[in-house]
Amino acid sequence: MRVPAEARVDLDAIGYNVGRVREHAGGAEVMAMVKAEAYGHGLVEAGRAAVAGGASWLGVAKLDEALRLREAGVAVRTLVGVGVPGEPYEEAVARDVDLTAGALWMIEEVVQAAERAGRPARVHLKADTGMSRGGAGDRDWPMLVDAALKAEASGHLRVAGVMSHFACADEPGHPSIASQLAAFTAMVEHAERSGARFEVRHLSNSAAALTLPEARFDLVRPGIATYGLTPVPQLGTFGLRPAMTLVSDAALVKRVPAGSGVSYGHTYHTGQATTLALVPAGYADGVPRHGSNLLEVFAAGRRRTIAGRVCMDQFVIDLGDDEMSAGDEIILFGPGDRGEPTAQEWADALGTISYEIVTRIGSRVPRVYSGGAL
Ligand SMILES: *Cc1c(COP(=O)(O)O)cnc(C)c1O
Repeated sequence: MRVPAEARVDLDAIGYNVGRVREHAGGAEVMAMVKAEAYGHGLVEAGRAAVAGGASWLGVAKLDEALRLREAGVAVRTLVGVGVPGEPYEEAVARDVDLTAGALWMIEEVVQAAERAGRPARVHLKADTGMSRGGAGDRDWPMLVDAALKAEASGHLRVAGVMSHFACADEPGHPSIASQLAAFTAMVEHAERSGARFEVRHLSNSAAALTLPEARFDLVRPGIATYGLTPVPQLGTFGLRPAMTLVSDAALVKRVPAGSGVSYGHTYHTGQATTLALVPAGYADGVPRHGSNLLEVFAAGRRRTIAGRVCMDQFVIDLGDDEMSAGDEIILFGPGDRGEPTAQEWADALGTISYEIVTRIGSRVPRVYSGGAL
């Protein structure tokens, strides 16, 4: 059965990419980041493929994502990065999910959850080393460490890890990289002097895992690289293999006369009599409306620019005098080896990052998997 648009996900590429990052990270463990539906690739399937490729941890943003992995039978160590007061932490503890604590309220709630669950919670302390996002900064760090160690002494909490996050690792040489690394090292040392015995210390996202050997510590946390997209476009692809190909089938092909206005607002007019093809994928599927008259797709043997505005469910391409039939395949983006643009090219054209291209692929676009241990 064909559908108007589908996202083909190559699970072998995900496994391969985890392997590439592991090579770069020389000995460090890999926590594959599978938050946000594994950057649009599918939480459970991508998570399994990453584990098959050598990831010994999975990382998510929200507790619900971790519980869905457990529900699906994925038992590998899983870390939740973001929480708010009042979430069902007892369930997290019962399901053996690691939690991140960057504030005292989290230690308190997790201890109560552990008491109810009748087993200790595992927590990673989060240091704000200069991104000014999550985590405890210099001023609050001693208090956080102290509270965590007291809770550990009471038997309700295990201080399993310590972590931080880079703000500018994708800009090689940015001065904040060295200062965050130094701050992290100092904060880890302070915690260890206070008695913390961390299983894993971790700081590096994809960009740092691939470019900063000095920031590997015990574990690296690649997200975008897991899916084969480069975290530092100016340094190339690092030999990664893009895992997602977005395809659609022409819904209609027709001749129109010269001077025809195409799609909403008539922002495109045909120069001469020409053949148009209707592509049944729109901004509700994740084709950005900003890509109107801008983004390229691969159809009938070559690249074509989207003609006129991207609509909610469809857009048009101008084939000139080339031939195409309803049902013929159009590749919107993919690894690039058949002539199609990559997600990185779409991102460059739109002034955004490849992350946003793949994560915005809509929920009504089925993910179709190949490879992997299916
Ligand atoms: C998303 C995320 C990552 C992965 O970032 P990439 O740039 O995609 O590699 C790593 N660590 C944390 C805490 C994250 O939230």
